[in-house]
Amino acid sequence: MSTDTPGSQSSLHRANLERVLRAVRMAGSLTQAEIARGTGLSAATVSNIVRELKESGTVVVADTSSGGRRARSVSLSGDAGIVVGVDFGHTHLRVAVGNLAHRVLAEESEPLDVDVSAQQGFDRAERMVERLLGQAGFPADKVIGVGLGVPGPIDVETGALGSTAILPGWTGVMPGRELSGRLGMPVHVDNDANLGALGELVWGAGRGLGDLAYIKVASGVGSGLVINGQIYRGPGGTAGEIGHITLDEAGPVCRCGNRGCLETFVGSRYLLNLLNANHPGELSLSRVVQLAQQGDLGCRRVIADAGRQIGMGVATLCNLLNPRRVILGGDLAEAGELVLSPIRDSVARYAIPSAARQLSVVPGTLGGRAEVLGALALVMSEMGETGVL
Ligand SMILES: [Zn+2]
Repeated sequence: MSTDTPGSQSSLHRANLERVLRAVRMAGSLTQAEIARGTGLSAATVSNIVRELKESGTVVVADTSSGGRRARSVSLSGDAGIVVGVDFGHTHLRVAVGNLAHRVLAEESEPLDVDVSAQQGFDRAERMVERLLGQAGFPADKVIGVGLGVPGPIDVETGALGSTAILPGWTGVMPGRELSGRLGMPVHVDNDANLGALGELVWGAGRGLGDLAYIKVASGVGSGLVINGQIYRGPGGTAGEIGHITLDEAGPVCRCGNRGCLETFVGSRYLLNLLNANHPGELSLSRVVQLAQQGDLGCRRVIADAGRQIGMGVATLCNLLNPRRVILGGDLAEAGELVLSPIRDSVARYAIPSAARQLSVVPGTLGGRAEVLGALALVMSEMGETGVL
């Protein structure tokens, strides 16, 4: 804990140090010029801080080139600490162990039954974290923190999982407290869409951008909003619930209690219902995408219609927030242009032209890993100057 007087030389120095550390932590590696641009600090201040951090073993500096000129790249030292990501999805549990230099050291995914109880789920997560730490060769006391992703909204005040969570038996569970108690490590929780946004921002299709929206279309539909390089959650933690934008007042009743939400047109269970009559047997969203890519006309039509409807939601988002990029994640993103092109058509039709012009709509590059990598990034983004959560 700092006892510096606010505004004193030493507190200013600490604040600058933290700005540099945060910039490097979130980017993985930056040249000194990039640090200066990103933090607004002078080249001389950055140079002094980097020297100090290098001497203390916090960062490593390597020669590189930037735009054809020699430059020095700064990254966090690989043994500066270990972060763990845990992602509970509708049908999977995925765990990753990484270091602050953005290297993923171990990662595994297991299928998870949607009816699994919260206790069984956390039992399995605990065992996986212990196993992967063993594989990575680090003891538990090297772990700075755990990022935990859950498929539903988290109440900001209580930390409880909200009632619209996709895992039915988990409503009211306190996932952060539960996992932290088992592992004896600090745990930071967020919903899957926010983590997908963080994952793509730090490792994927959103690298280097300050403003983007990640839209996850799977069983449910959610979005994670990045504004000025930070996830925007809103005071109640429910920002980004794009799946519950009303498209048709008289439409189907949604799990949220309203009618005609975007999710009731594009969530996987609704899409699969449209195809059941013509495709007997067990269909999944990824199978529908595969059939569409093989030319199945019904599957292509269902995906194209979903794209148009997602595009209406994206157009609203675009008018309100003017993001530079919208990144599509979840199983439907695997359809590529079959879904992206109708999204772009809808954006062109419904968004104001100036907002639509600056927007690119692209698929995520991390696929099913976006959330677990975002969970690692969550720990990095929540670390304070002392390097703890
Ligand atoms: Zn709804």
